[in-house]
Amino acid sequence: MTVTVDAAACIGCSMCAYAAPGIFRMENRVSTVLPEPDETQYDRAAGAANRCPVNAIKIRK
Ligand code: SF4
Repeated sequence: MTVTVDAAACIGCSMCAYAAPGIFRMENRVSTVLPEPDETQYDRAAGAANRCPVNAIKIRK
């Protein structure tokens, strides 16, 4: 699974880090993805992506 955040689009709302702290972390008001999230984290990553107000999170299985 590949999870990416479009840093240019991210508005730093922290919703993804709140929804899935094992996958996303805020650094300097931008969300970053922790290294190599595995398939078992897909549902949480997808939930965070759905909550992102600017659709900055992309997930590929
Ligand atoms: S939910 Fe979206 S806009 Fe908010 S911090 Fe995460 S990536 Fe950025």
